[in-house]
Amino acid sequence: MIEFDCTCVQKHHSIPTEVIEVSDHAILKVPEILKDYHRIFLVADENTYEVAGRQVEALLKESGQLSHSLVLEAPALPDADSIGKVLIEAGRDREVYDITEWSWNPDYVLAVGSGSINDTCRMVSYRLGIPYGIVGTAPSMDGYASVVAPLLNGRKKIVYNCSIARHIIIDLNINAAAPYPLLLSGVGDMVGKYVAILDWEISRDRNGEYFCEQIADMVMKATDQVLASSVNLEKRDLAAIRATSEGLILSGECIAFCGSSRPASGTEHMIGQTWEVMDVEEGKIPNLHGIEVGEGVFVAIELFRKLYGETEDAHLKELIGKYLPVFDKIEKLQQTLKLPFTVTDKDRFVEGILRGRTFRERYTILQYLYDQGQLEVYANDVYDAVMKKYFYRTFKDQFPDWE
Ligand SMILES: [Zn+2]
Ligand SMILES: [Zn+2]
Repeated sequence: MIEFDCTCVQKHHSIPTEVIEVSDHAILKVPEILKDYHRIFLVADENTYEVAGRQVEALLKESGQLSHSLVLEAPALPDADSIGKVLIEAGRDREVYDITEWSWNPDYVLAVGSGSINDTCRMVSYRLGIPYGIVGTAPSMDGYASVVAPLLNGRKKIVYNCSIARHIIIDLNINAAAPYPLLLSGVGDMVGKYVAILDWEISRDRNGEYFCEQIADMVMKATDQVLASSVNLEKRDLAAIRATSEGLILSGECIAFCGSSRPASGTEHMIGQTWEVMDVEEGKIPNLHGIEVGEGVFVAIELFRKLYGETEDAHLKELIGKYLPVFDKIEKLQQTLKLPFTVTDKDRFVEGILRGRTFRERYTILQYLYDQGQLEVYANDVYDAVMKKYFYRTFKDQFPDWE
C-alpha cells in the first residue's frame, strides 16, 4: 500500500501497490516478490514472451509458483478478443471435470508486456477478483500503475475501471532494449500532461470540478523527469531509461491516487485516442498510443495558443499564460526528438478534434470552444500551424521545398 495525507477534499490518497521494483535484472527477483502466490497465470504476447516472458516462466516453474502461461498472437490489442482469450485460458479444468463445481481459478495474473497486455490483464484480474502484477517490457505508456484501462469494445474505445497492479517490476536492461518507437511512445504519453493539468485547472475554475494540487504537482514533476531524460533515450542510457520508467509509473500512480485519469489525460488524449478509434473503424491496427497522443499534444498546444491570443476572459488568459513557457519547451523538444506524426491529412486531423470532444465525458478546451461556437473554426485553423511549426520543420529533410 502506498499512501499519503493530502490537503484536498479527499484528505488521504492510497493505492494497493505493494512493490515497485525498477532495477538491473529485476526479473530475477520475480519469484521472491511474488512469494505469496503459488498458482500464477502468466500472460504475454509473442514478442514480450521472447524478450522476458520465457525467462519469467522458467523462473516461476523452477520455484513451483507457475500455474500455466498464455502467449497471445502479436500484436495483441486491448480488446474484447484478447480479454476473452485470457478469460477462457485463465481457468483450468480440474483433473476430473465436475458439472456441479465452478471453474478453477489461478491465484494471480502476471502480465508480461506493456500497454495492451497490461490493460487486458488488469480487466481480467478485476473481473475474476484476483490480484495482478506486471513485468514491464517497455517504458511506452503510463498505465502500469493506473486504475483505468481504455479497452476496445466493438468499434469503440471505452475507459473501464480495473484493478491496480500489486507489483510493478521493471527490468532496466529489458526496457533499454525496447524498440525506439516504444521509447518515443512513452515520451509522447507524458509530454501531454501539462495540457491535461491545464484542462483540469480550467474545469476546476469553470465547473467547480474536484482538483488536487498535490497530485497535479506530482504529475508535473514526473513529466519534467521524463522530458529531461528523453534526449538520452536513443543512446539507451540506463539512467534515462530508469528516469523515464519511474516517471511513467509515478504518473500512473497519480491516476490511481486521484481515482480517475483526470491528472494525466486531457485534450491530447481525447484527440489521440479518437484517431486510434478511427484506425480501428477502418480495420487498421492503431498506431502506438503515445505516438497518437504525442501528436494530440501539439494540436492542444496550438488550440491553447490561439485561444490565449484571442480570449477576452482575463482569468482564462492568465491560466493559459502560466503554461506558455512549457509549451515553448515542448516545441523545442520536438525538434530534438522528432516524435513521429501519424495524422497529416487535414480531414482526419480536423475530425479527430471534433469527435475528440465527446470521446469521453470530460471538460476540456474542446468543450469550451464548442460552447463558444468556435471549435470548428479553431480545428481548421490550427491544422496549418501544427503542420508548419512541428511536422514540416521537424522533418524538413523530407520536404526540401518547405520554408
Ligand atoms: Zn489530494
Ligand atoms: Zn496515455
